This record gives sequence, structure tokens and C-alpha cells, in this order.
Amino acid sequence: MMNNIVTRAKMILLLCLAALVFSLGSVPGMAAEYENSGLMTQVFAAAETELGDMGPENTLIITDIGSPAESYVYLDDFYAEFYGRDLQYTKNLLVLQNSRNSPLWFAFFDRDSGNCTYIEVSYGAGEEISYKVTENINFEDLVSDDDSKASWNEKVGAKVFNGREFAILTISNAWATGEFDYELMQCLEVHNHFCPGVSSGYVIANWMEENYPLEAGVSYTVFSCPNWCKEDVFVKRWDTTPGKGGIWVSALTDEEKVALGVAPAGIFVVTNRTAGTMQAVVLSFDFAPVNAKCGAQEGDPAWVSKYLMDLWLMDKDNWDEEGMVSEIAVIDINEAILNEMKQADTNPYVVLGLLNPAGAVNPSKNGIPGIGQWMNNNKIKQNA
Ligand SMILES: [Zn+2]
Repeated sequence: MMNNIVTRAKMILLLCLAALVFSLGSVPGMAAEYENSGLMTQVFAAAETELGDMGPENTLIITDIGSPAESYVYLDDFYAEFYGRDLQYTKNLLVLQNSRNSPLWFAFFDRDSGNCTYIEVSYGAGEEISYKVTENINFEDLVSDDDSKASWNEKVGAKVFNGREFAILTISNAWATGEFDYELMQCLEVHNHFCPGVSSGYVIANWMEENYPLEAGVSYTVFSCPNWCKEDVFVKRWDTTPGKGGIWVSALTDEEKVALGVAPAGIFVVTNRTAGTMQAVVLSFDFAPVNAKCGAQEGDPAWVSKYLMDLWLMDKDNWDEEGMVSEIAVIDINEAILNEMKQADTNPYVVLGLLNPAGAVNPSKNGIPGIGQWMNNNKIKQNA
């Protein structure tokens, strides 16, 4: 009898626990605390107080909304405000990827005045605008004389946009030209700033697509070696994510770069399943012509020279500039060589025979037959 009572009590307790677990699991929207006190309404209103009315012709909004932890809860409110002002997704917005521990921030740029209002908010326990500043960031004005250059330099030093001065200045001014390629902007969403490095990636990506078209059955595997900001373009544009084995990233020593004789940018393996071919296209990207032609002067601050390089690289008419993108070699390979190139203890240039495994010396400099002839002659066949 006693045992029965205890068992029944246990059963009831178990049932109650099960019910509790079940009901907790079914509460919608539990993931984040969200007070919905109109934070996005406040943000847009604060920007309009500073800049005047927003509109599709004069407004660019740059933000990292969605990236900071649980900031996704503001996405619907954000877009309600955004579309409520007749702004357009492809014309007036750039949502940058950021790390989860980044602040939630917004930069509102007004093309007419060149003014930019930068806003950070705190959210979670209490919602409020935690920082707000408005600065004129029109590039032509900032570089008009030494005083205005020095004044912006000081603000960069003081991190007036909390360290995002370069990203906001370059993206806003490039957008204001009306010549910003939207597919380049999509790459900047991943890279979260606009620099000559990512621009060089855009030029290289277009070069590859022009010379080795991405037709049905064709895919690229990228050996980003040496790596710089350019790689994020390939990840976005070709879906060559590291998780799916699309991109392999490693560095080269200065000696290895010198040994390759040019400015190596990487190896782009083109697999054509339809034709049953695999080619390693080894490319260089030389910034010398960009530096020489972009209009930057000796002693310019980085934000000036880099933006001028960006502008020059944005112009498709400059993409065929002699000596900027060059083919170091094109080598027929196979699956086994591709797998060897991926191994952690191998240098893909050594696998292709472009570097000497011992001293990384360009063989041609030792009077030994040059590029492509060093060690893998038996398994590679070099095109012109
Ligand atoms: Zn960069």
C-alpha cells in the first residue's frame, strides 16, 4: 500500500515535469529578451534630426544589424522603418557582417550634404542610443587642404566612429559616385570594409571569369597563397567556402615571393567536369600600376591613398592595365595532384613545381630550367 502511494506520487511528479518541459519548449520567441520599446524608430528619428528627411536619392545606411548577439530581433522593425521611407534594398543599404561581440551600429550618410550620423545602441536589459555623432565625410572636402586632412586624421585617431571611420568613409563616398557595382557591394558585406585588397580580389575574380568562364560543370578551387583581403570576394562570388573545401589559405615567406619572381596572388584550379579537365591557373597581382596611376601622393594618409586606389580599381576601364594581373603559369593537373596541394605540410607552389622544396629558390635563377620544370615534370604538363 505504502509503496503504491509513493509510486503514484512519483508518477504525478514525472508527469508535471514532462508538462513543464513541453510547455517551455512551445513558448514562441523565447530566444532573446526583446522589449520592443521602438528602438529602431528612435534610431531613424535621431538620424533624421541630424540629416533631414531620408530618401532613395540621397540616403545610404550602413549597419551590422543581425551580426551582434541577438540583434536579429530588431530586423523586422528596422526594415519597417527603412521601407517606410521609400528606401530600396539594393540602392540605399549595406548590411555588413561583423563578429557576434560587436556593438549594434548604424551609419546614415546623406549624399547632398556629405554628412554622416553614426549611432550605436545598447539593448537587452535596457534599450537606448548609447552613442551618436555627426561628421561631414565628403572625400573632396576632407582632402581639399592640409588643414581639413589633418582635422579628419585627428578624428580617425580619436575613433570618432568607434574604429569604423575608414569603412564608413570609403563605402559612403564610393556609393556617392553612383558607380558602385552592386556585386562588389555584396562582397563588402562579407569583408565589412572597402580596401584596395578586396578591390584587387574583385578584379582577379572578373579576370578569371573572363578567361576561364564559369560555365555549367565548371568550378574553381582557390589556393589563397599568399592571402590578403582579396579572398573574401572569392568566397562570396563563387561560394568557395572553406567548409566545403572551396578555398585553402596559407602564407608565403618573402623569399618564396621573390623566388616566384612576380607578385603571386594564388592558384586557381579550374575543374571542368563536362570536358574532364583540371587546370591550375597561377596568377599574380601587382599593385605597382595601381599606386602609379591612382593619383595618390607620397605622404598621403592611408585613408586617402587607399580610397584613391579603390576608386581606380572600381573603374572597369583600368582592369586590363598592363602588368596588373598576369598569368605565372597554367598547368594541367589531376585529382591526385589537387589533393596533394591541399595537405597541411605541402606548399602548393612546390607541388606544381614552381618552387624548390629545399630552399624555395626560383630554379631559373640557378641556371636550371625554370618555372614548372623543377620536380614534377613527370606528372604535370605545362601550357604556354
Ligand atoms: Zn580589407
